[in-house]
Amino acid sequence: MKQNHQMSAPLRRAIDFLKTYDGPEVRIMEVCGTHTHEIFKQGIRQLLSPKITLISGPGCPVCVTPAGYIDRAVALALDHGVTVCTFGDLMRVPGTEMSLSMARGRGGDVRVVYAPEDAEKLAAEHPEKPFAFLSVGFETTTPSSCLAVDHAIRDGLDNFTLLTANKTMPAAYEAMKNSTDLFLYPGHVHAITGLADVKKMQQEGVSGVVAGFTAGELITALAIAVKKYGEGVPFYVNAYPRVVTDEGSPEAKQLVAKYMEPCDAWWRGIGMLPDSGMRLKKAYARFDAAERYALPEGNGKDNPGCHCGDVLQGRCRPEDCPLFGTVCTPVHPTGACMVSSEGACSAYYLYGGEK
Ligand code: SF4
Repeated sequence: MKQNHQMSAPLRRAIDFLKTYDGPEVRIMEVCGTHTHEIFKQGIRQLLSPKITLISGPGCPVCVTPAGYIDRAVALALDHGVTVCTFGDLMRVPGTEMSLSMARGRGGDVRVVYAPEDAEKLAAEHPEKPFAFLSVGFETTTPSSCLAVDHAIRDGLDNFTLLTANKTMPAAYEAMKNSTDLFLYPGHVHAITGLADVKKMQQEGVSGVVAGFTAGELITALAIAVKKYGEGVPFYVNAYPRVVTDEGSPEAKQLVAKYMEPCDAWWRGIGMLPDSGMRLKKAYARFDAAERYALPEGNGKDNPGCHCGDVLQGRCRPEDCPLFGTVCTPVHPTGACMVSSEGACSAYYLYGGEK
């Protein structure tokens, strides 16, 4: 990040502090893939003293979607004749045998949409065809899937379903809390959920700062995190108060609570995390593609050479994977972390490695 004469004095002080920090070594996990990419894009890693290490975490929804989920989506398209609607990032994520892109090449009707409601609208326009939206994501995207179901009920649709793999961030915090000294919490997630989860983490002795997404917000949050860490007492700070409130978004939470309930969920490379997923309630099973088409359970098989599991848990850097940048590139990805625009491997590749 280039300093310029318009930079505010507090921001300049925060940068100086991060550059010259010489206290205890501190590891900070930016759980969220959007943070990972913004930190690289803004050149923030170059500003940090060698005593500060950033670790990428499992907060990219595409990266943690297991191969078995892709297998079920492929089966919907190829075996059940369902038109599968998905965000573009999922198209090239490997399943056990093929990706959705390959399924399309084999005649499956797989379409890229920008929102769940686009899929619901397609279903309304083509009542003769069955549609399924691939509902992946964290607290930020789950409400829009629920809204699509809400509209499908309003429109009296019988040809629209979700294939759910929605996940919740607090489960990731719990699973990762021993891999880091503190968290950079994702501001957009807590704009929905509020601050109860980060307060609970503090009560468990886990510290973190809720951060926004601009360069200034990220630098400020990192400076607060490092400074408070030096005090040696578990803490949380909401450094994104213009968006994140104590209570979050009651409307979004109510919408999700109406249609979905917690469930155990499988995370690619990490395994089963109890109560870390969201699925449709039984009362809405007619909108659940897995129920409606009796899709078999199964977690699928990952490429054994891929280290996504270790990358997602902060146990290794993308560059430590032997396939990074040679066999595995954004054009020819081997694992989900290189496919997704929020994936850590993609960020390291695009922005040139650790620094
Ligand atoms: S570089 Fe590729 S193969 Fe290695 S961990 Fe990342 S996505 Fe997986």
